[in-house]
Amino acid sequence: MSPVLLPGSVDQQGRPAAVGVMGGGQLGRMFVHAAQTLGFEVVVLDPDANSPAGAAAQTQIQTAYLDAGGLAELARRCVAITTEFENVPAEALKTLAQQRPVAPSGEAVAVCQDRAAEKAHFAGCGVPCAPYAVIAMAEQLAAVDEALLPGILKTARLGYDGKGQVRVRSRAELEQAWAELKQAPCVLEQMLPLEREISVIVARSAAGEIVHFPVQQNLHRDGILALTQVPAPDVSAALQQEAVACARRIAESLNYVGVLCVEFFVLRDGRLVANEMAPRPHNSGHYSIDACDLSQFDCQLRAMTGLPLVQPRLHSPCAMVNLLGDLWFDDQGRQRTPAWDQLLALPGVHLHLYGKTEARAGRKMGHLTLTAATAEQALATANRAAALLGLPGF
Ligand code: ATP
Ligand code: MG
Repeated sequence: MSPVLLPGSVDQQGRPAAVGVMGGGQLGRMFVHAAQTLGFEVVVLDPDANSPAGAAAQTQIQTAYLDAGGLAELARRCVAITTEFENVPAEALKTLAQQRPVAPSGEAVAVCQDRAAEKAHFAGCGVPCAPYAVIAMAEQLAAVDEALLPGILKTARLGYDGKGQVRVRSRAELEQAWAELKQAPCVLEQMLPLEREISVIVARSAAGEIVHFPVQQNLHRDGILALTQVPAPDVSAALQQEAVACARRIAESLNYVGVLCVEFFVLRDGRLVANEMAPRPHNSGHYSIDACDLSQFDCQLRAMTGLPLVQPRLHSPCAMVNLLGDLWFDDQGRQRTPAWDQLLALPGVHLHLYGKTEARAGRKMGHLTLTAATAEQALATANRAAALLGLPGF
């Protein structure tokens, strides 16, 4: 595919080339920064007047995601369109695709939006995932195999950061959990003995070129990503290669265009199991802005516009620490501003705040990437940062 329009050029109406993004969250904001660096203007579509990406973009279209007028305006203004969140209505992407290149496609996003479809897709690619059962009807609940317990009941759609999940040990708890989840379509996954968690981000162009980022090792706390380390310190080279090969296969078989992240579990017996995938840049790839010569957002822009994809190179070992809204409150629940000045005195600190005005517990407000000459130094700085912020060490 030739580029839809070179950055820095103007369209037929004499306006600077613009790219569009569905969704105005922090991923959209970091995408805006990458696109603007290359000279593109960016148009964000998001119903929220105070969106982090809308504040950074040249234009925000403030309508619902399925609003026909909003979608028409986005298509009119942009040479190519992407999404920054996986719960964008797939229909909206399909509508836009009638007029403009849209990456990823509504079809690929639809697979990622549904845990049952996602797991079926993994299996079709020969990528193992946790044993599971689909529970959408009372009969399926009654027929559940006891071997899946203890397990985790997850809503098939709209879960994130551990929301929409209940851990269950017995059939009685399972029944209660499904009632708590309002009998929404769910999957019950067997609880697996995790050694650790990793993720792989790939970017694929319409011409089928694929590049990948190094394997990320992820630590979650309370179901939310807390720390990412790259290079993955505790994962063998063979297992890393296997994870990258799985992620590439998954992208290829979706005929995927754009950035895709696959999350994996490494089990205590050493096996690799796919957990879920995200049709967009991923929290575990934020380090790439500061530690790679090409970030996941640069790759998203290149893939969607038909610009060359080049294999990204990690130039600094690093650690990434998420900054959740909890940091904005002291022990008595009084609001405060974390001591960024002290934090910025540490070596190799890259502070990213997303411009969200309202801090809430568990809300992603920003992240820190710590780069260093060695992985040990990066982790040591992450621990110094954690101590300054009042977080438990890593
Ligand atoms: P996000 O979208 O933020 O990555 P999510 O809400 O979609 O998260 P999952 O990734 O499915 O949820 O699960 C969150 C975390 O819960 C995982 O990272 C892992 O730590 C744990 N977990 C999930 N499924 C299992 C399982 N089958 N066995 C053991 N632990 C699990
Ligand atoms: Mg997850």
